[in-house]
Amino acid sequence: MTKKEKLIEILKILETQNPSPTTELKYDNEYQLTVAVVLSAQCTDKRVNLITKNFFKKFKDFKSLSLASIDEIYDLIKSCSYPNNKAKYLKLLSEIVVSKYNGKLPDNYNELITLPGVGPKTANVLLNVLYNAPVIPVDTHVKRVTTRLGLANNKDSPLKVEKKLKAITPDEYLNKLHHWFILHGRYICTAKAPKCEICEIAMFCDFFLTK
Ligand code: SF4
Repeated sequence: MTKKEKLIEILKILETQNPSPTTELKYDNEYQLTVAVVLSAQCTDKRVNLITKNFFKKFKDFKSLSLASIDEIYDLIKSCSYPNNKAKYLKLLSEIVVSKYNGKLPDNYNELITLPGVGPKTANVLLNVLYNAPVIPVDTHVKRVTTRLGLANNKDSPLKVEKKLKAITPDEYLNKLHHWFILHGRYICTAKAPKCEICEIAMFCDFFLTK
């Protein structure tokens, strides 16, 4: 069985379990998703959702956020990781979106990654979720699951993992793979004690078959 054939079988199983996977971050529009994704770096979605519940009551759009002080932003996000940096990023990012893009988030990778707090993974998450772009943002969960399945190597960079996955993922699954692997990594294929005994894709997993 080739890696592509194996991945297709895995994706079919994950599709049966969850036909329409999406992010667990709570958001209603592109502004809210942008804030949530920036906050989610090194922080759990659960924590981010707790923070944004109040945050979005106070700052409703890029314009209102651009007018806030860094201290006001910090105060609302201080329970997440790296609040100092993230407060500065959100302030600067919203100022740029308002002044340069008329309050509308850019819809392409090259402009997104120029925004403060938006790196390659964040840009790809925004493109994937907001615009259904066929990209595979690779975070710690996606990397761990991909490696254990034997579709990438431990030493591969996130970019290399993405390239390897893209090369063998059929078009119809490109937008969904990221979400399936994140959810699988978060709830089943956990870092410390993967729940292999209840894993539906164990028969295709190198880690499971060789342990
Ligand atoms: S069998 Fe275990 S290691 Fe392999 S994908 Fe499933 S949970 Fe992860």
